[in-house]
Amino acid sequence: MKVVICGAGIAGLTLAWWLRRAGAETTVVEKAAGPRSDGYMMDFFGSGYDVAERMGVLGELREVAADITELTYADRRGRRVGGLRYASFQAMLDGRVLSVMRGDLERVLRSALGDDVPILYNTSVRAVRHVPGGVDVELTDGAVHRADLLVGADGIHSVVRRLTFGREESFLRPLGYHTASFLFEDAELAEEIGRRFVLVGVPDRQAGLYPAGDGALAASLIHARSGMALPADPRAEVLSAYRGLGPMVDRMFEHCPEDPYYDHVAQIRMPTWTKGRVTLLGDAAHAVSLMAGQGSSTAMGGAHTLAVELLGADVESALARYERRMRPFVLSKQKAGRNTAAWTVPHQAWRIALRNRLFGLADLPGGRALMGRGLKRLGAGAVPVAG
Ligand SMILES: Cc1cc2nc3c(=O)[nH]c(=O)nc-3n(C[C@H](O)[C@H](O)[C@H](O)COP(=O)(O)OP(=O)(O)OC[C@H]3O[C@@H](n4cnc5c(N)ncnc54)[C@H](O)[C@@H]3O)c2cc1C
Repeated sequence: MKVVICGAGIAGLTLAWWLRRAGAETTVVEKAAGPRSDGYMMDFFGSGYDVAERMGVLGELREVAADITELTYADRRGRRVGGLRYASFQAMLDGRVLSVMRGDLERVLRSALGDDVPILYNTSVRAVRHVPGGVDVELTDGAVHRADLLVGADGIHSVVRRLTFGREESFLRPLGYHTASFLFEDAELAEEIGRRFVLVGVPDRQAGLYPAGDGALAASLIHARSGMALPADPRAEVLSAYRGLGPMVDRMFEHCPEDPYYDHVAQIRMPTWTKGRVTLLGDAAHAVSLMAGQGSSTAMGGAHTLAVELLGADVESALARYERRMRPFVLSKQKAGRNTAAWTVPHQAWRIALRNRLFGLADLPGGRALMGRGLKRLGAGAVPVAG
């Protein structure tokens, strides 16, 4: 079987790994010039953790996992107003959780794949032509690959989705927030933050700061903003949106690059992910948003599910079964993401105060058991990791 995967991100690399193991002839195309290190820290549990375990990469992920002791909610003056000890969070998930930077996860997956599968960097898909029993994939370098299957694993702004299903606006559903993130170095601030993930939140805005390894700090920002348009100058938007959150956040501004990662907090909702011999995977198909968390974990669970189905049946039946197995999980994650938004970055001060107090309950055995059950229902085992 010949497969072209567009996107060497979390979903694309995971699928390529499983297809290589199954002996499929796989080519990956990636628009970036090389592996990317930017991005945010993910709490990695549930299906992603299970799939990583089966791929034998948990050891490497543990080596690069963030060394965080606490999630601290702080006020503008940096004083602790609530929080959750990381040990409590781990206990809720029976220790089957890692906090990993997106770039580190991508790097570990890339090195697990080895050199057998070609990854064509600086390359994308220009045109897609359906042919009997297959698909012709025209790349931006002019080459045309005839394949049994094209998989669009090219993220929330997928070009494969646009070429196959139509314009992005038909499927992208903003949740009313924008997000930005970037890495920087500041030894003094790093000392103040220590091993904590510090969140300063006021109605409609939340700034997070945490250690990202090798002395670097990461900024993770979310603020309320409606509409479909993104600002022409993301850095200027960051500087104006997060003013007044106190000295720690002000100091972070000094390091904001010209082009931070900046996007809608959004979901992709589609009635189907497959047309002929083209299917979508990960964020391209069903971004759940950072409000739901688990975007990378869901992408890895989906990649494994698709690979397992392709091994067991003809391509058409496999794609139908992949969608049938993934859709209920994805819909429930998306619903949870929409519900969680009002508590992650609340519009009202009373919600912030209540949330901070509730988080504290997790340090008590009863509260921990209750929250653990909810977390496991959300993440673990919901994507069937069989085969
Ligand atoms: C550099 C980067 C930083 C990120 N930072 C954050 C963050 O701070 N917060 C957050 O919530 N989410 C972030 N994300 C999204 C997050 O990684 C995904 O939600 C999650 O990992 C799902 O994985 P995915 O493989 O489906 O998509 P992604 O991880 O987004 O991977 C998609 C891949 O496809 C590539 N690609 C995109 N368009 C094309 C194209 N036209 N042709 C070829 N290749 C293409 C991308 O370069 C990328 O390698 C980031 C993604 C990237 C690429």
